[in-house]
Amino acid sequence: MYRIILVILVFFFNISTPYSKEVNIFSDRHYDSDHELYKKFTKQTGIKVNIFSGKGKQLEKRILEEGVDCKADLLIIADAGRLYSAEKKNLFQKINSEVLNEKIPSHLRTEFWYGIAKRSRIIYYNPEFTNYKDVKKLSYEDLSNKRWRKKILIRQSNNIYNQSLVASLIENNGEEKTFQWVKSLVKNMAKSPSGNDRTQILGVAAGEAELAVANSYYYALMLSGKKGNDQKRAAEKVRPLFPNQENRGTHMNISGGGILKFAKNKTNAIKLLEFLVTKDAQKHIVGNTFEYPIRNDVEPHKIIEGMGNFKQDVETEISSYGKNQAKAKTLMLKAGWR
Ligand code: FE
Repeated sequence: MYRIILVILVFFFNISTPYSKEVNIFSDRHYDSDHELYKKFTKQTGIKVNIFSGKGKQLEKRILEEGVDCKADLLIIADAGRLYSAEKKNLFQKINSEVLNEKIPSHLRTEFWYGIAKRSRIIYYNPEFTNYKDVKKLSYEDLSNKRWRKKILIRQSNNIYNQSLVASLIENNGEEKTFQWVKSLVKNMAKSPSGNDRTQILGVAAGEAELAVANSYYYALMLSGKKGNDQKRAAEKVRPLFPNQENRGTHMNISGGGILKFAKNKTNAIKLLEFLVTKDAQKHIVGNTFEYPIRNDVEPHKIIEGMGNFKQDVETEISSYGKNQAKAKTLMLKAGWR
C-alpha cells in the first residue's frame, strides 16, 4: 500500500514540477573545464545542467527578447561591466544567499550578481629591451607619459576589459583627467590596435613595443604551454608588472553570475552558484582557467602564484566599471582609440 502511495507521489511530483531536477545556464565563458565542473555538480546533486554558450551581448539580447519565455535560469559572464549592464536591463532578480554572502568578499558582489573568479589587467615588459627600474613603480596613469611614446600595445576600444579599465580610471581620477589620459595613451600606442590580449604580449616578446596590457590569465595560459611552444617561449621572454602598487593597487575584474528574473529553476540555480564558490569548485576553476579564486582561502594556480604577490585594488567599487562604461566608450572613441 505504502509503495503504491509512494509511486503515485513520485509520479505527481515529477509531472507537476518538470524542471525540479535541472538548471539552464547561459554562459559566455568558453572553457571546457566549466563543463566538467557542471558535471561534478550534477553528480553531487542529481541536478542536470543545460548550457547555452554565446557571446555576452547576444545572450543579454536573447534574454531580453524572450522575456518570461526564456529558458535560462542563470547568466554567467565575464567582466563586471557586463554584469552591471544585465542588472540595469532588469534581467536579474535579487537573491539572498548566506553562503554567497559569506564566501564572496562584499566588493565583488551586489544583490543581483556574484563574482565567481577574479582576473587582473596588468602590464608586460621585455627585460631585454626595458629596464626594470623604468617600470617598477608604474601605474596605469603613467601609461600616458611621454617616456612611452609609440611604445605601448593594447587592444581595441570595443573590448570590454579595456572599457572597464578606463571606467575604473574615471571613477578614480574623474572624466576630464581620464580623457586627457586616453588621448596621450593613443599617442603612445606603438600601432593601431588589433588582435586579442595574447597578441599584445607576443608583440612585446618580439620587441615591437615596450609595454603590453593584457589580462593575467592569458599570460599564464601562454606560459602553461597550452597555446603551443611558440607562445610559451614568447611569454617566457616577458615579465608581468602589477601597476599601482604605490597607491590603490592593481585593477581587478571578475567573472560572475546572477539568477535571471524569470528563472523557472531558481532554487537549483542558487544551488549551482553556491556550488561554484565551494573550495573544490574554486580549485577546479583556478586550476584550469588561471583566474584568481574569489575566496581568500583558496590558492591560485602555481603559474599565477609564480607571477608574484601584489596589492589588489579593493577600493574602487567594481560596479563603477559598468556605471562609467558609456562614458568610457565615449572618451575612448573621441580620443581616437580605434
Ligand atoms: Fe578573456
